[in-house]
Amino acid sequence: MNKKLTYLKVFFLGGILLTILFTGCIEEEQKPHEEELFAPEVQLDQPSILPNWKDGEYHDYYETTDILSDFKVKYPDLVNVFSIGESALGKDIWCIRMTNENNNQTKFSCLVDGCIHGCEWDAGEACLYLAEYLLINFDSNATVTGILNTTEVYIIPLLNPDGRQIDDRFNENGIDLNRNFDVDFGRIRGHSMPLGKIFGRKIPYIMFERLHKWFPRFPLFLTNSGRRPFSEPETQALRDFMYEIDNHDFSFYVNCHTAVHNIASPWMAFKPPFEMSNKEEKIHAYVREWIAENTEYENAGMSFDDYSYKASGTAMDWCFKVFRIPSFTFEILSQDYEPAAGGGKHDSLVHWMKTTLPVFMYLLVNIENLHNWKTSDIQPILPKGVPPEPSGG
Ligand SMILES: [Zn+2]
Repeated sequence: MNKKLTYLKVFFLGGILLTILFTGCIEEEQKPHEEELFAPEVQLDQPSILPNWKDGEYHDYYETTDILSDFKVKYPDLVNVFSIGESALGKDIWCIRMTNENNNQTKFSCLVDGCIHGCEWDAGEACLYLAEYLLINFDSNATVTGILNTTEVYIIPLLNPDGRQIDDRFNENGIDLNRNFDVDFGRIRGHSMPLGKIFGRKIPYIMFERLHKWFPRFPLFLTNSGRRPFSEPETQALRDFMYEIDNHDFSFYVNCHTAVHNIASPWMAFKPPFEMSNKEEKIHAYVREWIAENTEYENAGMSFDDYSYKASGTAMDWCFKVFRIPSFTFEILSQDYEPAAGGGKHDSLVHWMKTTLPVFMYLLVNIENLHNWKTSDIQPILPKGVPPEPSGG
């Protein structure tokens, strides 16, 4: 009996010991496995951070060139920088392509550009700010990482580098580049005149205050569209580049300006080349309305009788006409800054960058919807303090 009891005790104790050891082993084995599974998600859950910009620090053509080169050095797996062509004075028009190059899946692509009017500085700054925001948050923020995994984001901060350097709306030939595209070209009711240079002289802007007073439907001003569509090297470069992106599921286009404080979509032309479909009209309107409801920018939805904002030969209309993708003219800043109304000041840079970022992020998280002309109802997750309270000026 005693012997049997001893055996039983040994058997029990041994069993317990083995169980403890065995469970311990499993726990030991499971621990690193769990960490491996969950660590990347925890890391990706970080709130995004904002570029560390200061008010007053605007970037001219040469500084922009340096910043883009630095991005390429710092983020070789995400960034490609190349020239899409040269300006009238021979400056390279730089484009930055951002995407996770290690991910070879088929991706959507989109284009955001700025400063087609050289005096509209913040339009170019908004492009740079967006680029930096995406790069510094890749691999830590889930939203941004998702965007660069699935999208080729093309950004051209300065379409009119010569104009930017002398703070002028026009290019070196005195042409309004955003009237030089082949859509309803050179129409007076679209505020443009196909003049080009006359006797070698630049004719950039003509005011018709008296005529406009007598005949209110006569445009207040006309801007020089160039003698024929795509007469300028800058617009040729943008046209050819858009055809190139079209091979990569080109899904939306944003042409950035200042400072009418709203978002517009086709048609801006006085006489559009064709009627857009109900679906296209609906999605353009949905995006404009989302932006009006969720940011301080306004919906530029135009009534048929509102001629004040008609413009022939714009990059946006041409993009929509040729590629039939959602296309926008984004007028950043507030009316106080409008150069045509005597504004044109450059201040509160950081405020306006934070105000503008949500619009780009909304479009980027909805790129698949936009590509398929579907309701773009995905809400972007934004960092704290974005957008900031409207400054009212
Ligand atoms: Zn403009």
